Amino acid sequence: MTKPALHWFRNDLRLADNPALAAAAEAGPVLCLYILDTGPERRPLGGASRWWLSRSLETLGEALARKGGRLMLMQGDPAVLLPRIVTEAGIRLVTWNRRYEASEIALDRELKEELSGQGIDVRSFNSHLLNEPWQVTTTTGQPIKVFTPYWRAARQKGEPAAPLPAPERIPALPLPDSVDALTVPLSDLGLEPRKPDWAGGMRAAWAPGEAGAVMRLDDFIGSGLAGYVGDRDRPDRAGTSRLSPHLHFGEIGPCQIWHALHHASAAGEAAGSEQDAEKFLSEIGWREFSHHLLFHTPDLATRNYDSRFDAFPWQPDDAALARWQRGRTGIPLVDAGMRELWTTGWMHNRVRMVVASFLIKHLLQDWRAGETWFWDTLVDADAANNAASWQWVAGSGADASPYFRIFNPVTQGETHDPRGTYVRRWVPELAGLSDKDIHQPWKASERSLREAGVRIGETYPAPLVDLAFGRQRALDAFAAMRN
Ligand SMILES: Cc1cc2nc3c(=O)[nH]c(=O)nc-3n(C[C@H](O)[C@H](O)[C@H](O)COP(=O)(O)OP(=O)(O)OC[C@H]3O[C@@H](n4cnc5c(N)ncnc54)[C@H](O)[C@@H]3O)c2cc1C
Repeated sequence: MTKPALHWFRNDLRLADNPALAAAAEAGPVLCLYILDTGPERRPLGGASRWWLSRSLETLGEALARKGGRLMLMQGDPAVLLPRIVTEAGIRLVTWNRRYEASEIALDRELKEELSGQGIDVRSFNSHLLNEPWQVTTTTGQPIKVFTPYWRAARQKGEPAAPLPAPERIPALPLPDSVDALTVPLSDLGLEPRKPDWAGGMRAAWAPGEAGAVMRLDDFIGSGLAGYVGDRDRPDRAGTSRLSPHLHFGEIGPCQIWHALHHASAAGEAAGSEQDAEKFLSEIGWREFSHHLLFHTPDLATRNYDSRFDAFPWQPDDAALARWQRGRTGIPLVDAGMRELWTTGWMHNRVRMVVASFLIKHLLQDWRAGETWFWDTLVDADAANNAASWQWVAGSGADASPYFRIFNPVTQGETHDPRGTYVRRWVPELAGLSDKDIHQPWKASERSLREAGVRIGETYPAPLVDLAFGRQRALDAFAAMRN
């Protein structure tokens, strides 16, 4: 017997390996629903995420239509909308895939209780992680605070479940007018920037949606993975998968990645060595670990994990923050990263670490100011990965880089962008400088600057801070905090 079902899409915008959608499609005709959540507890999505979401929902709607389904879009508080829709549409089964932020967990719990109390079958699943945050523990059942033992324990859990195929058919549930009236066209969600339309660079860089994610994974396993161990630190090369926004929005899941990688390796079809594959999986492990941390520390984005940092003498400076945000610090690698971010909504991991370190340590700005900017501008902005990574760089995190380890953006540039290719791409006003000068133009000779058409302080800013002075000031601030 069929059971009218509702699948609530959240960060699982795909048809394949979507256990909650599969359960709904198996039960009966399905109301496929996405709610742009404007509930009081939700952190509003950043601008870049809103752009990505819009494109992803569009492709999801098209994919569902090819299976006989229909994606219904609504805007509002799910705590209010969902019970009303369930009653009015005569739904008997509600499915979703689980999320791990405190406010989301509370909402899901509340809804499960309310709907179950009305006799509705409510089923939730894991589609987002290899292991859910409570599944990996110390031998005494405690959360794990350090990555290496975390990942060792996670690996001991064995193979993740084999990915499910997309349902053959996802027939749309006919809706009463009262529910239909709650739906809105995608354009009415106002997700895409209009005046001005700043998304051109993102459109050129990305193909949001499940098909784009699968293509990117196949490309990466088939060729990009070769040399990952070394190339992943090279912003001047396409050395990483760029799967992060696809993973964040659930257009592809980590179990699919795990199995695709193992299948390709076993068949001899994966580019790259076993070490490349292991290293890549361990990065997926950092994503898992970050979710583990967020689940066990719900205020990870707002509170120092290490409370000693509550006494850190930050020196808030809006002008310095604005120069960092706009890529006008006068430090080429930092500016290149911040401009890549602004244009494409993404930044290379090595450069993320460098720009974050520069903001926190050389400029003494609170890591939360950087976290907030990334939240607004990254297409992969993620409550777990972003907060955990900022705290890692700050030194205030669980398994953190020690505060006194301060990245030098010049030597980072010389090591990881040795020919200056990355800097030349994003800071074209420096393109004429030699490889030797490109990472510290303020040290170039008058003649080199003149020949390259660079005038420090005019065509390109002078450094916002002297790097040696900034480093020492950061170390002094750290010592003051400890005392
Ligand atoms: C200050 C700072 C902020 C960051 N904010 C985010 C964020 O909001 N969202 C986000 O997804 N990542 C964030 N990262 C982590 C990392 O930079 C990106 O995941 C990575 O650059 C994405 O590129 P990729 O997909 O090519 O990575 P790959 O090297 O191909 O890695 C594969 C996947 O592993 C995961 N991953 C890789 N590195 C990390 C990491 N250090 N922590 C957690 N997961 C990781 C990502 O899901 C990534 O897609 C941040 C890092 C720093 C230093």
